[in-house]
Amino acid sequence: MHQLDQILSELAGYYPSADLPLVRRAYQFAAQAHAGQTRKSGDPYVSHPLSVAHIITELKLDVASVCAGLLHDCVEDTSATVEQLSELFGKEVAFLVDGVTKLGKLPYSTREEQQAENFRKMLLAMARDIRVILVKLCDRLDNMRSLHHLPPEKQERIAAETMQIYAPLANRLGIQWVKVELEDLAFKYSYPGEYEQLAADVAKTRAERLEYIHHVEKLIQKEMAENGVPCEVMGRAKHLYSIYQKMKRTQRPFEEIHDAIGFRVITDTQMHCYQGLGVAHQTWTPIPGRFKDYIALPKPNLYQSLHTAVIGPRGERIEVQIRTSDMNLVAEHGIAAHWKYKEGTNNSPGVAINDEKKFAWLRQLMESQKELHDPTEFLESVKIDLFGDEVYVFTPGGDVKALPKGSCPIDFAYAVHSSIGDHCSGARVNGMIVPLRYQLRNGDTIEIITSPNQKPNKDWLKLVKTAKARTKIRYLLRQETRDKAVVLGTDLIEKALRKHSTSIGRADKQLQHAAKELKCVTVDELIIQVGYGKVTAQQVLEKALPELGKKAEEAEKKTESMLKTLLRKVTRRTSSSGIKVAGEEDILVRFAKCCSPLPGDPIVGFITRGRGVTVHRRDCDKGLDLDPERRIDVEWDGHGKTQHEVAIQVLCADKPGLLAHISQSFTDQGVNISQAHCRATDDGRAVNTFHASVKDLDQLKQVIRSLSRIKGVFSVDRVSADVA
Ligand code: MN
Repeated sequence: MHQLDQILSELAGYYPSADLPLVRRAYQFAAQAHAGQTRKSGDPYVSHPLSVAHIITELKLDVASVCAGLLHDCVEDTSATVEQLSELFGKEVAFLVDGVTKLGKLPYSTREEQQAENFRKMLLAMARDIRVILVKLCDRLDNMRSLHHLPPEKQERIAAETMQIYAPLANRLGIQWVKVELEDLAFKYSYPGEYEQLAADVAKTRAERLEYIHHVEKLIQKEMAENGVPCEVMGRAKHLYSIYQKMKRTQRPFEEIHDAIGFRVITDTQMHCYQGLGVAHQTWTPIPGRFKDYIALPKPNLYQSLHTAVIGPRGERIEVQIRTSDMNLVAEHGIAAHWKYKEGTNNSPGVAINDEKKFAWLRQLMESQKELHDPTEFLESVKIDLFGDEVYVFTPGGDVKALPKGSCPIDFAYAVHSSIGDHCSGARVNGMIVPLRYQLRNGDTIEIITSPNQKPNKDWLKLVKTAKARTKIRYLLRQETRDKAVVLGTDLIEKALRKHSTSIGRADKQLQHAAKELKCVTVDELIIQVGYGKVTAQQVLEKALPELGKKAEEAEKKTESMLKTLLRKVTRRTSSSGIKVAGEEDILVRFAKCCSPLPGDPIVGFITRGRGVTVHRRDCDKGLDLDPERRIDVEWDGHGKTQHEVAIQVLCADKPGLLAHISQSFTDQGVNISQAHCRATDDGRAVNTFHASVKDLDQLKQVIRSLSRIKGVFSVDRVSADVA
């Protein structure tokens, strides 16, 4: 029980108004929930949450975090529920416990660095509250401290995870002592032999080392002061794991790792930094190639400092960093990142630097938290959507993919492999089939279902968020239209050539010539251009077969003169069709039966051999099919001179008397019905088609309007005369 008292007194120490009874109740609840459970060490299980809560007070966190530390294993390992915790200890505590529980369930497998980084970001994104991560880190630290009770294979797995995920996370958050302890513990279980050897070596010289650090600190201080450089000096021995890394990196034994000690000199001005450097180099011999001026040339994250290494007192190599206190602030917290965050700017490219700034901001948050008198102030800033613009999901193999927020399974499929994206026909998320528009959520495990017949369609472009997916889909869609253009272009050219008894295969040389003339690099491109409608088959024909082109020209001339004769002939006619052809009145004109144009309709004419000009409505399907070469401009010339037959379809109820009503309506509008077809349908309605003569579109519209007004009439439509 004395550990609880210790927690309570520490909490009260940095947070006088803390709700201590709540913490006490949380402890009692945890003790009861875990009753009967023991740790591998044989201790009652509750000793673990107690230790975790204790570490949490060392980080000076708030009451909710301490309670969450006490309760963090309840939901996972006992019958307690999140709802229950919410009722007893409030939403906040329940939320933190729920968060820690969820993080514990993420499947972890050892991965390369990029994967580990994504996994760390996934943890932060899922936590949604930095306290969840901090409680998790404290949990992990206590687990690492008691790792020796576990079987070796578990030790190895947990140590690897700690090294890859949690130590870097603590480092990113700037909690140096947690990082160092996690690293050294993980090192101990990952490489027991190397660890024991190095620990013994360091222990032998430990007292000596501390004495040495103290001695050098004093010495630097004195030299600087004598030369007019006011400063503060801090020496630090590297921890075991960082010495080990250095040994591995330089391929040297411990005895040769001399600069295992670093000194930081903090002064007031930039000028004093350079003066301080001069003092250091005058006093001790600098090691060539080790001097770096990050003041004149700051790092991309705005880090500024002077770095050097010298042969220090007693011939030991030491590292010296010299900077102003302002620069030190940036180095520790990333001040720029803080400003950036406050301004709310978020430049998405250059992800690495951006992430670095976010972490720097977190570090500063942790730093300032230490100085707060009331840890609840900390809450103002902890609930941040830190990596809210990204979502982290697993592949079935346990890899983590980072995607923009709002991404769908198609984005994921393309992130895995283009060919998976191209054939993505469905997806399973956490084992359940989901639609392709499903928005991925942090921690989802995605399995893509592919089908060889599946291909991207236009709708996919509305779903995807990643540039990669978009680019690939667009490319394939373009490829598809291109394929269609090839088919269409081949068809058009083949038909044109066939009229002159040749083919694409036989006219290859001529087509190559035509391609060059029409500024296409290859015949294939020429075919595509024809398919897209940018070049006509006629143009190709003229360039490919110039002799024929001449003949065509002659034929054209002949047609023209024929038309002129025709025009001359018809001008003499007196019949008034109400149509001007190519600006001429009174030409032999026929109205197409298929669309029965009325004065007022947009129209187009076609020269018909021996029958003058046939007039179609501009939107008539048949007219569109006719040879554009025979097309001729026509226009209406005065209204109402002639009557035009149209067909009108009336859909109405099959009721006695209604037909009489309808025909009366025609008469009222002064329109004669020439034919009527009436047919009853099975569902009690009647379809009536009337052929009537009207003078123009306005009159037709009037008829349609008055028919529509009759009770029992469902619809009135102008239809093609062929329909009846
Ligand atoms: Mn735990």
